Amino acid sequence: MQEVHLAPMDPQRLEPVIGIERFESFAHELAPRMAEAFDGVAIVNVNSTPAGGGVAEMLHVLLPVTRGLGIDARWLAIEGEPVFFAVTKRLHNFIHGAAGDGGVLDEAAHEAYVAVTHSNDAELKGFVKPGDPIILHDPQTAGLAEGCRRRGHPVVWRCHIGADAANERTEAAWAFLRRYLEGNVDAYVFTRREYAPDWVPADRLFVIPPSIDPLSPKNAELSSSDACRILQKIGVLDGDPQGDVALTRPDGSPMRVRHYADVVRTGPATPPQSPLVVQVSRWDHLKDMVGVMQGFADHVFDGHGAHLALVGPVVTAVADDPEGAEVLQECWNHWRGLPHAARARIQLVCLPMGDGVENAWLVNALQRHAAVVVQKSLAEGFGLTVTEAMFKGRPVVASAVGGIVDQIVDGESGLLVRDPTDLASFGAAVRSILDDRDLGQRLGEGARVRAGELFLTDTHLAAWAEVVSSLRG
Ligand code: UDP
Repeated sequence: MQEVHLAPMDPQRLEPVIGIERFESFAHELAPRMAEAFDGVAIVNVNSTPAGGGVAEMLHVLLPVTRGLGIDARWLAIEGEPVFFAVTKRLHNFIHGAAGDGGVLDEAAHEAYVAVTHSNDAELKGFVKPGDPIILHDPQTAGLAEGCRRRGHPVVWRCHIGADAANERTEAAWAFLRRYLEGNVDAYVFTRREYAPDWVPADRLFVIPPSIDPLSPKNAELSSSDACRILQKIGVLDGDPQGDVALTRPDGSPMRVRHYADVVRTGPATPPQSPLVVQVSRWDHLKDMVGVMQGFADHVFDGHGAHLALVGPVVTAVADDPEGAEVLQECWNHWRGLPHAARARIQLVCLPMGDGVENAWLVNALQRHAAVVVQKSLAEGFGLTVTEAMFKGRPVVASAVGGIVDQIVDGESGLLVRDPTDLASFGAAVRSILDDRDLGQRLGEGARVRAGELFLTDTHLAAWAEVVSSLRG
């Protein structure tokens, strides 16, 4: 087990983004209340990795702000053997209803899980003080609930994943976890109410959606001309960027974009003035990049000057991410089979990943430059790409699946496509925005307001305050 040390962040930095009134209530009402309630104890988060993955990213944002508010918050990451992580990955896939590695959650799986849980539990004792509330994140840490509870710690289990529909696998995963959680947890936190299994007591169930960091390179202010120049620099848009755009890293040090994107297209790059439809996603079947391409080719581009960019991370070695490489290959094959006229308007873009901050600025530039951001997922846990685009005031067309329906109010803060496989409806929604500038602006403004109200750091922490206060109640 290792502790992740993060320096406090001055919460004042949030003020220009959330406004003075909201900042006042955050810093001068919520924070002192929390600090008083948790005087003498530390709120201890436990997850399975200090870096990589959404949970780590979220803790990297929330912990510094919490600490900046004068509340002692800590973060511990468990350690385990490959056999343990094989079981927890299986749990992860099963909770999503997917088959994963084809293995089962039998007694041998429980044994592997318990062995690592025991060794981490022994170490955890040395890190925490009596009375510290413990927030356990995701299936990897569920086994620690019993020991924490026995030693008198208030225990929260925060599950970041879930599926719209139950099947045999989801049932198996929840039966596995129930053994460790039931009777040992004071509060359960899910991203959506629908993701909680039915044995979670209603009076202990809290719903907290994820949030985005408005100050991070992925979401920070970027002028449209700088966004355009960045995209010219990496080769996505046509034209000379006329020098480098001055950017900064989170620690304030200067940086510039140094890498090109890998782009597959025919003919010249997209002109900056052409409306660009963008989907940014991992290369994953559930993001349905091929469907976006076909929907655009069949129902959007003819008669419109629009172009499409399908954007994901570079898939370097096949061993790293076999599915990513496979999906990208499928996209290439599909693209090659399209009529030339459609191909000339569609590019496949792989963003460099070597420098995470650079990658974040590139995603920022793409989302800000987009005339329409699409997220035509077949399934989605929450869909942070939707939140990111909404916060930037972009009109979004997205499938009505998973957490996307909690984000977009159809017709007010974006357009929802009921059936994610219905390419004609998807195309019609995109066209309606391309055809009507006012509609795009209205949806974008609605999106900006909604994401700003519901999915930023201060709202997220306020929701957490309710959970941890319930522990003291
Ligand atoms: N993302 C990124 N670079 C890429 C592709 C995706 O940084 O090349 C980010 C994207 O901005 C978002 C996250 O990966 O923050 C994806 O989260 P989401 O909830 O949309 O989907 P998930 O990948 O978790 O299924």
